[in-house]
Amino acid sequence: MARATQAIINLHALRENYQLAQNSAANSRAYAVVKANAYGHGVLTVANALSAMADGFAVACVEEAVALRQGGILLPIMVLEGAMDEQECQIALDLDLELVVHQQQQMQWLKDKTGTLKVWIKVDSGMHRLGFSGQQVPAVASDLRAMECVSQVQLMSHFACADEPDNDFNDYQMQQMHILSPMNLPWSMSNSAAILSRPDAHRDLVRPGIMLFGASPLKGHDATDLQLSHVMTLQSNVIALHRVMTGESVGYGQAFVAKQDSIIAVVAIGYGDGYPRGAVPGTPVVIAGQRCPLVGRVSMDMITVDVTHAQVKLGDAATLWGMGLSVDEVAKSCSTLSYELLCQLTQRVKFQYLGR
Ligand SMILES: *Cc1c(COP(=O)(O)O)cnc(C)c1O
Repeated sequence: MARATQAIINLHALRENYQLAQNSAANSRAYAVVKANAYGHGVLTVANALSAMADGFAVACVEEAVALRQGGILLPIMVLEGAMDEQECQIALDLDLELVVHQQQQMQWLKDKTGTLKVWIKVDSGMHRLGFSGQQVPAVASDLRAMECVSQVQLMSHFACADEPDNDFNDYQMQQMHILSPMNLPWSMSNSAAILSRPDAHRDLVRPGIMLFGASPLKGHDATDLQLSHVMTLQSNVIALHRVMTGESVGYGQAFVAKQDSIIAVVAIGYGDGYPRGAVPGTPVVIAGQRCPLVGRVSMDMITVDVTHAQVKLGDAATLWGMGLSVDEVAKSCSTLSYELLCQLTQRVKFQYLGR
């Protein structure tokens, strides 16, 4: 049998999660955020699975939007970082993309173009990453409106701390946006966390990302408490089982030394597949339905798991995250976020789609 390392992507669950985002912000449109290859899930399959229900999509850059158009996606596509050069502005016009405009240079590139482009002015409401300050926004809006190629101007911004709904900075950022109310423009503010925790930020358009993939956007909340269903299950199997005696070590750097006679399962997945090398001993792995602790270092192609207290045989399936083990829990064990784990699977992992 071939190497069993695979990511199983449940498209039913993806659609349910989109529906939950849409129902949570029932009076807003929702663009599914599918940047970074749909958070590692395979962008065209994900976009096709959502295209009958989504109001549109959002991606980071024009290249990602081009890939969607080339894949036959006709819905609106918002480009969150906007154009990187003048040629990308032309591509946006040709492919009917919606461009975020966050700095003056992007306005220069648009100035002499013709066509009908929807633009979103990025307002820096406090994150200080991208965008125009509130004071600049009215002038930017009137400059854009004066351009031949601009057919619609809307506002968008992004929360720095939406994963902590009690953080006062969220209120501060909302106040910064409300200062612009006299402009009477539609605005978009909510990522997944704000969709689930801040109805006052839903406004005209919401931008759900991580929640579509069934991971929790809110600190201290489990995806299942939030009614989200996991989409990716990362699996492999046990390719070797052996006994180590008290005092014997396992793997690189002798990082694990058996404190008692133990049984170690070797599972065919490693950092070469995108399983995090930073996973600490004790990170859970589900083998044949039983939670067992990772031991020793993560290798490029393999991990080692202590199965002394479980019933495990050669060939048994191992789940690294997904069904029966939330990616959020694994991420916590690796001092990272579900976002990073989902995005970093490598080419070597085979993808299998359910519910296409
Ligand atoms: C990635 C991104 C989102 C989606 O964020 P999630 O936390 O994944 O829901 C929304 N808006 C912008 C500007 C983004 O960059």
